[in-house]
Amino acid sequence: MTFQIYAPLEIPETLAAGPGPGNTDARVLHAFSSAGVADHMQGDVLRGMIECKHMLREIWGTNNTYTFAVAGTGWSGLDAMFSAVMPGDKVVAFSNGTFSGIDALTLRIKAATRLEHTANPLDPQAASVTVIEIPHGQTVTGEVVAAALAEHKPKWAFMAHWETGSGRVNDLRGFSDACTQHDAMGLIDAVSSLGAEDFCIDDFPGIVGWASCPQKGLCCLPLTYAPVSFTDAYIDSLKTSGAYSYVHNPIFEARHWGIVDGKDVEKGTYHRTHSGYAVAAFHEALRLTLQEGLTKRSSSYRTHEKVLRDAVTALGCEVTSDMPSLVVLNLPPELVGREMELVQNCRARGFGIWPTLSAPVQVRIGILNQLNRQAVSRIVRLFAEALRELGGRVDFEEIEALLESRYGTSIAA
Ligand SMILES: *Cc1c(COP(=O)(O)O)cnc(C)c1O
Repeated sequence: MTFQIYAPLEIPETLAAGPGPGNTDARVLHAFSSAGVADHMQGDVLRGMIECKHMLREIWGTNNTYTFAVAGTGWSGLDAMFSAVMPGDKVVAFSNGTFSGIDALTLRIKAATRLEHTANPLDPQAASVTVIEIPHGQTVTGEVVAAALAEHKPKWAFMAHWETGSGRVNDLRGFSDACTQHDAMGLIDAVSSLGAEDFCIDDFPGIVGWASCPQKGLCCLPLTYAPVSFTDAYIDSLKTSGAYSYVHNPIFEARHWGIVDGKDVEKGTYHRTHSGYAVAAFHEALRLTLQEGLTKRSSSYRTHEKVLRDAVTALGCEVTSDMPSLVVLNLPPELVGREMELVQNCRARGFGIWPTLSAPVQVRIGILNQLNRQAVSRIVRLFAEALRELGGRVDFEEIEALLESRYGTSIAA
């Protein structure tokens, strides 16, 4: 038998200019690396978790007691949220891109009966789940939601707030109102919108469950916490049905965040071994969000997205997204079909843009935590160079003039 000791792993600094992860903030990394070694029941770690819980309620505009965070990534939070969906539960899910497509798969996995699992274990076709497919590049509207809920009368309804696969903002107000009107319990994938969009959970009473992630709007990649929030109606349903999970049962998981029997308690109790490094990093990311303020941050995303959108349009691309942190585009006609080549060329140079992960093939360029003139200009220039390298027609002077006219006077550098 042979084995090898590899050289220490070195990972270079890249420009994360995709849908996520965003560029983890330096303050977050500092908090991560300067935390001491401490166990998950040490006083400051527990206090940090309680403070995170309070900051999350503030950021998310909610009085939901069950507002806390699930260790892991966005899918971890979503899995916890979907854990109340039981086999045979009637569900309507709206899918308009890669991520809501995977959410719909998760819902079919949760709602499938044993027989349905055996028939197709990796892609169970749960008869109780209706998936309404909205074409890539289009928005889920309140009318579509209302019509489907009126027809199917489900217990649960699901939608992504911002669908990162196609870069579309879905109609949260319409979804919430339709849930209220048709007596459905709304579940939202808020992975991309939390920390980037200015909204309050408590303004959307039709929605009983929310799940987000650490690495997008919150700029906190070091494996940390996926924020979740649940109303009492959700928790009551979970209490009645139970869930097929220990670790991702929101009632159990909330205990470590000092939420026991529907009430805040002074100190968390053991659920799993939390990392003091992760708690410190997450805590700093939430402080950063509150200090900057979501009103300011969300308007900054809109401002800079508009510059990026206009620049790539001037370069001959067609933008099909409407999401403030991400531009999804078709290449100019002469370069159509070469999307993967372009993305790979960029990534080889540490310029991390992305293709779409499901059809049709498009290019995605994001600006998470890149909200300044210098960062957006750099993204535009790198993209223009990549287009030219493939033989595209690029007028660099026009692009510089556009950046200067947008940033020269009105917007703070
Ligand atoms: C990124 C994303 C996810 C998955 O999040 P992970 O952190 O990769 O687990 C799910 N839903 C949406 C809308 C996303 O943008």
